[in-house]
Amino acid sequence: MDDAARAKSLAAEHGFPLSGIAAVPPDGAAPQAEWLAKWLEAGRQGPLEYMARTAETRRNLHARFPWARSVLCVAARHDGAARGERGRDLIAHVARYARGRDYHLVFEKRLKRLAGALKKAGLCAQARYYADTGPVLERAWAQEAGMGWVGKNACLIHPKLGSFVLLGEILLDRALNPDAPAPDHCGTCTRCLEACPTQAFAGPGQLDARRCIVTWNLELAGAVPEAQWAEHHGWAAGCDVCQTVCPFNAPERSDHAPDTELAAPLPWQTLTLAEAIELDRTSYDRAFQASALRRTGWKGLRLGAITAAGNLRSASARAALARCLADPDADIRARAAWALRQCE
Ligand code: SF4
Ligand code: SF4
Repeated sequence: MDDAARAKSLAAEHGFPLSGIAAVPPDGAAPQAEWLAKWLEAGRQGPLEYMARTAETRRNLHARFPWARSVLCVAARHDGAARGERGRDLIAHVARYARGRDYHLVFEKRLKRLAGALKKAGLCAQARYYADTGPVLERAWAQEAGMGWVGKNACLIHPKLGSFVLLGEILLDRALNPDAPAPDHCGTCTRCLEACPTQAFAGPGQLDARRCIVTWNLELAGAVPEAQWAEHHGWAAGCDVCQTVCPFNAPERSDHAPDTELAAPLPWQTLTLAEAIELDRTSYDRAFQASALRRTGWKGLRLGAITAAGNLRSASARAALARCLADPDADIRARAAWALRQCE
């Protein structure tokens, strides 16, 4: 077994069944760096200012990590199955990746151990790991490492596992044998581009964050102008449309079991939309502890649930919405009044 195979074997032992290695070129340039430059030039990052702020390192790893020689890319599968009853259960209106445990925390723990194991095995002296938390073009590196391709929906798609996977990476100071970059299998398909309910794609892979529901209800936690409230298409947190329509995520293809830790049940998953709308702070803290949805915060989650209920003209949430008209928070009151008007 060569050093690259040993590194990937250690990745599997540490909870990453999918892994690959990309070589960092002598000039440190990231794959798809030109794509990033054009995307930023067009202003498609919108309110995701950190993308522009960290662009230099994203485009060139050596800007911050001059010692990096290889990128060990890793992935695990989250629960990608349909859950809950639309119009009634909160979980049916939450993006699939955000349903389980906060993968940043789960991955960080695993990556830390994996980095230690790689050092102990003599496969690197220096290592830096990230899971969506650092200035790394992780999907581009994952494609370079042979783990799939970045589809027209801007997600990494593994030919067998589809896109319901979560990514992490470890930068290493050792040059390990790289894997061959994965070919693109989108072909002539354009399903994701056509299905996006807000027409957020300016072209293949050209996701305009300003038009994406995920930006509105997760990144901005619902703090968006009224003109956008009616455009959430029933999503309380995140949106999955451009992934669920992808043929590589068809249920008959995706028979691989999800990671058990990521997919372990959490208390909030039995909440109805109506219960989420009226959730008090203590219940939120209890039900969403360890959840990926902590990102929206208590108020952001309630705003998301109210907006979804308005979009769906949800009869079962009507009484909860009416009680929110007396909520101490003016934003909650305004959103509930809007949602009730949609239900009339
Ligand atoms: S996540 Fe939803 S809104 Fe965003 S690009 Fe995909 S389909 Fe469109
Ligand atoms: S829906 Fe079609 S075009 Fe979009 S990512 Fe999937 S295969 Fe590619």
